Amino acid sequence: MPKTSAIELVTVPCLHDNYAFLVHDAATGATALIDAPEAAPIQAALDARGWVLSDILITHHHDDHIAGVAALRETARVIGAAADAHRLPDLDVAVGDGDCITVCGQATDVIDVSGHTIGHIAFHMPDAALVFTADSLMALGCGRLFEGTPAQMWDSLQKLRDLPDETVMCSGHEYTAANAQFAATLDPDNLDLISRIKAITKARDAGQPTVPSRLSEEKRTNPFLRADDPALKAILCMSDASNVDVFSYIRASKDKF
Ligand code: ZN
Ligand code: FE
Repeated sequence: MPKTSAIELVTVPCLHDNYAFLVHDAATGATALIDAPEAAPIQAALDARGWVLSDILITHHHDDHIAGVAALRETARVIGAAADAHRLPDLDVAVGDGDCITVCGQATDVIDVSGHTIGHIAFHMPDAALVFTADSLMALGCGRLFEGTPAQMWDSLQKLRDLPDETVMCSGHEYTAANAQFAATLDPDNLDLISRIKAITKARDAGQPTVPSRLSEEKRTNPFLRADDPALKAILCMSDASNVDVFSYIRASKDKF
């Protein structure tokens, strides 16, 4: 749970394997939505709690993150990347890397995490220890490189890795079990990974989500965050390769997996 007790986080499963997130500030009644894959389950989650949206934060332009915006925006301010405004729903607030906005009473830092797409942004609420990463850094994985280069994604992932260990990472899809199978092929002797995979299998067998996850756990187990780890480089026989080349190799291997 976020360390700011007045802030409540709700994970809303959408479509086949997407997640949207609601952040609610009990003190003011403000409610923010991060990404809108489809309106109906999000509206149902709001109605069940008597919440009304005050903000919609958009991470990137893919349809599975914005399709529900039009139906949900009536009461809300829509916030997204200025760099992506031409392919996002109309924005009330356009933001870029390094901006800080106030959402649900929380100082919210905007981080450019280009790679999956150019202009993909993450939202970090440091006081609530929450980061919304969508299709950049994901539980045990990272997004495919549809638009960016490996160097851009590696740079983006390092920015997220630099956030505090206790940060709760809210990513956009339930891909963790497949990511775990891949991670195990690279790093079969990583004890943290082995125990995490057991927990993932148990959660999925029980129909429970594996998202959000704790950043400290990602740092120990997510191979995409460890392209500069000498131990992983050695396993891959890439000890002399650059970090970007190792990241690029891991990403390409996952694409073929
Ligand atoms: Zn996407
Ligand atoms: Fe997506």
